Amino acid sequence: MKRPISKLIRPSVLRLKPYSSARDEFKGNSDGMVFLDANENPFGSGLNRYPDPKQNKLRTELAALKGVQVDKLLLGNGSDEVLDLIVRVFCEPKEDNMILLPPTYGMYEVVAGVNNIDVIKVNLKSDFQPNVDAILEEVNDFTKIIFLCSPNNPSANTMLNSSVEEILNNFDGIVVIDEAYADFSTGPGWVDQLDNFPNLIVTQTLSKAYGLAGIRLGMCFASEEIINALNRIKPPYNINQLTQDEALKAVGQQNDVLGQIKEILKQRDELTEALNDLSIVKHVWPSEANFLLVEVDKANQRYNELIELGIVVRNRSSLPGCNNCLRFTVGTEEENQKLIQALNQLK
Ligand SMILES: *Cc1c(COP(=O)(O)O)cnc(C)c1O
Repeated sequence: MKRPISKLIRPSVLRLKPYSSARDEFKGNSDGMVFLDANENPFGSGLNRYPDPKQNKLRTELAALKGVQVDKLLLGNGSDEVLDLIVRVFCEPKEDNMILLPPTYGMYEVVAGVNNIDVIKVNLKSDFQPNVDAILEEVNDFTKIIFLCSPNNPSANTMLNSSVEEILNNFDGIVVIDEAYADFSTGPGWVDQLDNFPNLIVTQTLSKAYGLAGIRLGMCFASEEIINALNRIKPPYNINQLTQDEALKAVGQQNDVLGQIKEILKQRDELTEALNDLSIVKHVWPSEANFLLVEVDKANQRYNELIELGIVVRNRSSLPGCNNCLRFTVGTEEENQKLIQALNQLK
């Protein structure tokens, strides 16, 4: 028997009385009403009112776009805020733990540290796939969350469906799948599997494919029960009005986004080909994202030389399984050519 979700949530989160904002308390039709409830400045600038704390309009549009019920979607100030909310709902400081699979996105460990939660690390295998047996062996009574990243940053691959499913079926806790790069991947992702796995949480973001890293908008998809728990601790006005407006605009301009994704994928293929022709490049890992993990001859030296030549990449060579690896974001055709020209100069 699996633990029900209600037994995974911290008792203090279930006990607390969530903040009730002015905008939450008045639920009627706002047309023609005089609002004297939130101590706002009445002289309108267009931004003098608090934003909708539940972002109903934006959530409705995003839920439709992603094919999920609106009650299974929560928005965050970037997916980084969503990750923090998830940890704070489920993990008791100094008591519970979470499992991470390095090499992976660095924020999971930071969020754990901020919340004083123990981390158990089970490295990905040499092909960057999860070692399912080793992961399940590390699980103990205090393991609340396993973080998966698919496509994974920095290895750029998606996790095998069979491995993810094995973890979902055999772990008695929450499985978070971070799909920040889902829009670049050929696979269907996991959002449409929520009804099959009550312990599944999927996160996505407008920061990568949508080109809106600056507005900070992350998405969290999960069962209504999990979303309700997250809403109990969510800061009421976490998505500001400007962000809600810009995100709505982007959702309405899907074709632009799809065109950019297509171009980035084309550039990714061309960059891969050009890199494979260089003698200092040892291996280019296949990518389901908008970046390439590239093994070079001497990563630290090449990283510094590229900076001298005006190009900033990410040195990932200190991460497990990433010896001598640099991570290149796929840029415009011109930017990618500059990268190749620079690498060509290096001896
Ligand atoms: C970039 C990135 C994020 C950050 O998303 P924000 O929505 O900008 O906070 C989350 N997860 C992974 C794996 C990333 O690479």
